[in-house]
Amino acid sequence: MRGLLKRMLKYKFQILLGIIALLLVDLAQLVIPLIVRRAVDSLRSGNATSGILLRFGLYILGLALFIAVFRFFWRYFIMGTARKVERDVRNELYYHLLKLSANFFNKERTGEIMAHATNDANAIRMAVGMGIVALSDTFIYSIFSLGAMISISPTLTLYTVIPLPILTIFMLSFGKLIYKLFEDVQRTFSTMTESVREAITGIRVIKGFAQENGQLRDFEKINNSFVVKNMKLVKVWGAFQPVINLFASLSIALLLLVGGRKVILNEISLGDFVAFSSYLGMMIWPMIAIGWVTNLLQRGAASMDRIERILKTEPEITSPPHPRKVKLEGNICVRNLTFGYVPNKPIIYDIDFEIKQGEKLGILGRTGSGKSTIVYLIPRIFDPPEGSIYIDGVDVRSMYLDDLRKSISLVPQESILFSTTIKENLTYGNPDAGEDEIINALKVAEIYDEIMEMPDGLNTQVGERGVTLSGGQRQRLAIARAVLRNAPIFILDDALSAVDAETESRILRNLSDFLKTKTTIIISHRVSALKDCNQIIVLDRGKIVDRGTHEELISREGIYKHIYEMQKLEEEVAG
Ligand code: ATP
Ligand code: MG
Repeated sequence: MRGLLKRMLKYKFQILLGIIALLLVDLAQLVIPLIVRRAVDSLRSGNATSGILLRFGLYILGLALFIAVFRFFWRYFIMGTARKVERDVRNELYYHLLKLSANFFNKERTGEIMAHATNDANAIRMAVGMGIVALSDTFIYSIFSLGAMISISPTLTLYTVIPLPILTIFMLSFGKLIYKLFEDVQRTFSTMTESVREAITGIRVIKGFAQENGQLRDFEKINNSFVVKNMKLVKVWGAFQPVINLFASLSIALLLLVGGRKVILNEISLGDFVAFSSYLGMMIWPMIAIGWVTNLLQRGAASMDRIERILKTEPEITSPPHPRKVKLEGNICVRNLTFGYVPNKPIIYDIDFEIKQGEKLGILGRTGSGKSTIVYLIPRIFDPPEGSIYIDGVDVRSMYLDDLRKSISLVPQESILFSTTIKENLTYGNPDAGEDEIINALKVAEIYDEIMEMPDGLNTQVGERGVTLSGGQRQRLAIARAVLRNAPIFILDDALSAVDAETESRILRNLSDFLKTKTTIIISHRVSALKDCNQIIVLDRGKIVDRGTHEELISREGIYKHIYEMQKLEEEVAG
């Protein structure tokens, strides 16, 4: 609750204005029965004229107009605030998620994170909006209606309100049940959307394995269970309305019985009776609302808790308390680097190498040998142990994280592009890049001509709503993006695996001028991509098993020479 209140406090004036408008509406609402009472009494006493009735009619009309205006304002202020609180919470969550480390997303399920941003944010909005309205309404209506009823007849009030607290209790337990069922429905719904999403993304695999029928059976199962869960909710709701009506009718029956008698005995006037019945009607809603709003607030608080759990998760990887500001040239030194994703289970052991500005290091090794792991440790996507990676003599762990990451262009193994234009994707790491820089980067990555042939050139949309790029096109765009970023350290993690060997060597040739002043790491499965490196390390099961230049490595027996000869053979066969 405290989290919720803290976020609402920011909008206290809007909330106050909303509550004032709500108060005015409620008070006007409460005046109407008084007018009706006067009208009925004057009818009953026989001295009503059309003039008098017209006057009462006009009063009511005036009040209705007043209510209409202020109802607009309370909705505007209170529901508006609820939307804003929801927006703030979402922004806060999104911002925090971006700061969290890669490890967090390994552990947390995407669907659940999405649920926080949707269902939980919704529940918070409902709690804020309807919470304020129902609380104020309940308060105003119950006090004033009750006051008016007591002033008409205390005993009648006593009789008729007896069933109402039962209504509240009933509503409370009922609300819990409905909430539980509703959660069930929501959960099934997320499972269903997730399964559709997965099927759509994996449509090629499904078709390739001819699994449409199996997929359909699975979906039908989920879809059916969605109906079953919903039917439970339907049944409970179905029983709910009649029970509420029953209690309300009980009150009205008591009113007729006890109040009617009082009219006959002339203890109260017919006008009193009519007004009383209106006030009684006004009491019923707040009694239901108390139960309802309690649930709503509980739900909102629970959602806030869930979101705060994430907000309280500290990013594992941050700048140290007293970071060093650095302007890096890029001389990398790795010493005795041992690392595992899980404590005490190393994936790479005792890695040692040094790269000076202007030099290239090549890394070769079988799949799963730990190549990507090494390069993810340099920008601290995962955290290396202290004292194991230095750039320009400074431990990466003691630098400003931003300084460190800004000096590295990493082209990851999976080239991810965002659903926007090619141009925006390219300038992602360097928004100020000019047209000629962009063209140059595209030419270096050997993709300029292909982009220019696309319908809108640089402004072509990529991703879900735009053109679908091939794996090789995506990789080359990712390289152009990294070239544009122009950072002192340049890392290619198997970034040319989807282009043919010829294009690869052309790109590497194009890059050579650009790389003269950079510190470069190239990971590749192809020896041809590595032969110009100043030093190549050969990795096997997390250990460096050999190192040297291309010439040195092919002069002795080992993995490198073996792979080299295999690939040479392939080339000869193909060529
Ligand atoms: P490839 O040539 O296939 O890209 P690689 O040499 O790049 O392989 P890595 O991605 O570094 O290999 O993986 C090395 C080992 O670390 C693998 O056994 C892999 O299962 C494990 N691994 C990789 N990423 C993670 C992670 N985020 N969490 C836990 N284990 C991981
Ligand atoms: Mg890899």
